[in-house]
Amino acid sequence: MKTLIRKCVNCGKYTMKDKCPECGSETRNTDPLKYSPSDKFQKFRIKEKEDENNGENSS
Ligand SMILES: [Zn+2]
Repeated sequence: MKTLIRKCVNCGKYTMKDKCPECGSETRNTDPLKYSPSDKFQKFRIKEKEDENNGENSS
């Protein structure tokens, strides 16, 4: 199910409209799929690997 919750870029208020009812600023889609946790973990894993390699090289 797709929700149409948007968030004001200025005051951070959640709304379903293109413009914030509070301050009239632009709102953006808040699609949780864009911030997938798997991506985050993958980034962390890559960083960990890099850190590991750096440590090996320096010692
Ligand atoms: Zn606003």
